Amino acid sequence: MDYEAKLARDVKPLIHYRNDAWKCVRCGLCRIIDPEQIEEDGYLDNCPAGYLHKFELFYPAGRMDLIRCLTAEPPEIEMTEMVKKAIQTCTGCGNCQRICNDQKGLEPTNAFQALKAFAIDKWGIRKEHNNLIQSILNYDNPWMAPRKTRSRWAKKLGFNIKDATKEQVEVLYFPGCNASYVPEITPTARATARLLNTIGIDFGILGNKERCCGSTAFRIGANEMFEEYKAENIKQLNALGIKTMITACAGCHSTFSHNYAGELDFEVVHIVEYLDRLIKEGKIEFKKSLNIKATYHDPCHIGRYSGIYDPPRTVLNALPGVEFKEMKRIKENSFCCASGGGVKPAFPDIALKAANHRLDEAKDIAGADVVVSCCPFCEINLGEAAKGRDDGIKVVDLLELIDEAMEE
Ligand code: SF4
Ligand code: SF4
Repeated sequence: MDYEAKLARDVKPLIHYRNDAWKCVRCGLCRIIDPEQIEEDGYLDNCPAGYLHKFELFYPAGRMDLIRCLTAEPPEIEMTEMVKKAIQTCTGCGNCQRICNDQKGLEPTNAFQALKAFAIDKWGIRKEHNNLIQSILNYDNPWMAPRKTRSRWAKKLGFNIKDATKEQVEVLYFPGCNASYVPEITPTARATARLLNTIGIDFGILGNKERCCGSTAFRIGANEMFEEYKAENIKQLNALGIKTMITACAGCHSTFSHNYAGELDFEVVHIVEYLDRLIKEGKIEFKKSLNIKATYHDPCHIGRYSGIYDPPRTVLNALPGVEFKEMKRIKENSFCCASGGGVKPAFPDIALKAANHRLDEAKDIAGADVVVSCCPFCEINLGEAAKGRDDGIKVVDLLELIDEAMEE
């Protein structure tokens, strides 16, 4: 099994990772993209938590030390607020596991996921995460928004979307909680639906009966709740008789593909993979030139977790009037924007610092005016950082660009 297949698939107790923790040799290879370039300035760091704190406990080797101490009999460390912060600022970006699993066969990212679950077992859910969890339990979304408004984004599109709970469809479009409720992200849901409609796909949505995939609960370490929630989703989704689920959310894609693996009766496809296929088959026509200088931010959850690196680049390069240039940390080396893993709600200042660092790279290295991504979590965080800057940089979803380029 390669590192992608192992990432966040297994939910094992912390004790399982004690050997990995003892085998960590503190080489530090999981901190930067390339030790050969150590003399160069900037944009080499690749553990967002470590980079932003510059303190050993927040780097992967420090967390491995923590696991050694916590799994000793008796435990050799006191659980201070700083230690809890170190556990909860890991974004689960997967970079340390990519490096370490290839080189030494260890699974640090999975170990740090187990560390989060261990922290919840021992000390309960942090108060900033509690609202999210209560909201998922009460409203099936982390945004405290009523169920009956979930499909509001689908109104006034100029066409009707089938209700997949009432009519048989081949493809289910699953927008997820962000694209259903967050005003900055609902344009992605609308653009995806318009695209599927224009190319004549027989698709439907779950409407107000759609429920959170559970990613948010899983990433903060609320594993038990996630498992219960997942079981309900599997029942609902498998009863639909669909062949394909399409999502434009990297988090939903990763959760359904990895954490539900082997339990769904249909394939799960990210919209960029679907678009890539359609462009190669000549089924999409772009009419409008966009005239932008763009770069692409690889979201961890379709990048390192699923290896979807080329499709978004193929799509971007196919758009008229897009001058595309890469940043330095790309594909498997992409720098996580620190929105995920429960970091944004609990430590918004840290998430914003990471996002600004990423936008600096987009400006300095790629000379971009527009940062394109395929993940609502990245877009919310990077977009918020962009609004606080005066360099005019913008953050958009790839689907919004497609939508615009297809206009007359
Ligand atoms: S986690 Fe792996 S790559 Fe990172 S310091 Fe330890 S041994 Fe080295
Ligand atoms: S998963 Fe990412 S944020 Fe967490 S320790 Fe590893 S590199 Fe750092």
